[in-house]
Amino acid sequence: MQKKLFINGKFVDACNDEQLQVIDPSNGSVLATVAAAGAEDVELAVQAAQAAFANPNWRRTSGAQRAGLLRDIARGIKQNLQEFAQLETLNNGKPLPEAQWDIEDSIGCFEYYATLAEGLEADPQAIALADNNFVSHVVKDPIGVVALIIPWNFPLLMAAWKIAPALAAGCTVILKCSEVTPLTALKLAQIISDTELPDGVVNILCGDGASCGAPLVKHLGINKIVFTGSVETGRQIMRSASDLATPVTLELGGKSALLIFEDVDLDAAVEWTMFGAFWNKGEVCSATSRVLVAQSIYPEFITRLCAAAQRIKIGNGLHSEVKMGPLVSAAQYQKVLNFIALGITEGALLISGGKRPEHLSAGYYLQPTIFTDVPTDAAIWREEIFGPVVCVNTFSTEQEAIDLANNSEFGLAAAVLSQDLSRCDRVAAALDAGIVWINCSQPTFIECPWGGRKASGIGRELGPWGLDNYLSIKQVTRYTSRQPWNWYLDLPTDESPDVDQ
Ligand code: NAD
Repeated sequence: MQKKLFINGKFVDACNDEQLQVIDPSNGSVLATVAAAGAEDVELAVQAAQAAFANPNWRRTSGAQRAGLLRDIARGIKQNLQEFAQLETLNNGKPLPEAQWDIEDSIGCFEYYATLAEGLEADPQAIALADNNFVSHVVKDPIGVVALIIPWNFPLLMAAWKIAPALAAGCTVILKCSEVTPLTALKLAQIISDTELPDGVVNILCGDGASCGAPLVKHLGINKIVFTGSVETGRQIMRSASDLATPVTLELGGKSALLIFEDVDLDAAVEWTMFGAFWNKGEVCSATSRVLVAQSIYPEFITRLCAAAQRIKIGNGLHSEVKMGPLVSAAQYQKVLNFIALGITEGALLISGGKRPEHLSAGYYLQPTIFTDVPTDAAIWREEIFGPVVCVNTFSTEQEAIDLANNSEFGLAAAVLSQDLSRCDRVAAALDAGIVWINCSQPTFIECPWGGRKASGIGRELGPWGLDNYLSIKQVTRYTSRQPWNWYLDLPTDESPDVDQ
């Protein structure tokens, strides 16, 4: 297990010898102790990334060469897939099959951006000008040194979503992984160090927000910040970035709604409700944690939902058949328990779960939790809980369902279930969110744009939009006329210019 920072192609201890403990959420024990970066390490990493960006060995690589390097990384992850998945489960708690999805998607992400890197070789895009004296075209340059900051819920996948397009574009990067889940990012560093990628192109730091994240986003050498995490941290980063006018892309939180109409297949509706709210223990930014059900089917729906939720096997994610592992950390566990207690005092009805499962005395385990009759001004209805807690309310008309869904500070995702596809399209058009799922919840594709509206963020990742985050557009314009440009040159030569002394 790699435990050191990865700076300028080498694994190093932190300058001040600081370390942080990585916890196994299934029992609270220490899984590993890793180097914890501070401001001095940030400085070294930025210097390395700047030097690498200026180095012709990287700067002059073609898209096709970078594609080859991205495929080498994908291959390296693939050869270690099981080890990556086990580390993710050990560190994050998610069930092993879900960790395997993450690792497979990470491989797919490096492969996808390899193909897009090759596409960057295409001819520069000509611009049609009304003025025939000039020709113009657009080229896309790498934006420079990028700071990539990620959370703990999909540790390797979030790293891949950022590193792959950044390298495809030709940037150099400093990845700051979450202090809670650094292990797969450090293993990725090992894979990268085994490729031909020049030193300093990728630097990987572990460390907390205050000691490592804050100096990184305030550094003058950073040309762009791409951040995934909470709204609060996103706002803080945007404030400090504004001092230097550093551009940001922000993928923040959510409180997404799932709308279930009366014509659905009830078993399918229960399945999508559970998947939307409970997969990855509900620690998902796009979790559809506010469910709105048509009044007429509510009694039967809620009975089936509670019965199904109570059948979910909870336990150590490494054990087969486990469908829900422990929450990621003691802090997150306490935060979710506090929300559950608050929900009860706010007048919502706790109808299932809400407690530690009886058979698990240690670790951060929680039953899948269902609230109904939730006041729409309650914190559990409005705020992101980021745990396996779903709030279920009813609606009587389509417009009421849309209004309730859109009445949120967030706008990351929304989902609609109905057999009436014209209604699905109508509702999808009315939902104020960056992502809308029809007759499903949560599927995420590397080819599709990912990101939210309102407090859920700024910009998009994935697809070609994800690559654009790391490219800077340059206009190149050439004067083609045979006639001289003579605004000044045709001044009369027999008169001395009238200059103030
Ligand atoms: P967080 O905001 O606490 O931390 C995210 C990262 O930011 C961590 O690496 C942390 O160390 C770092 N950080 C903290 N303070 C910082 C500072 N002042 N300057 C720079 N970096 C700082 O979030 P979290 O608890 O790790 O993750 C959960 C949050 O992430 C949830 O709100 C979730 O919705 C969000 N999330 C969003 C998406 C999305 O795509 N929209 C995806 C996954 C997670």
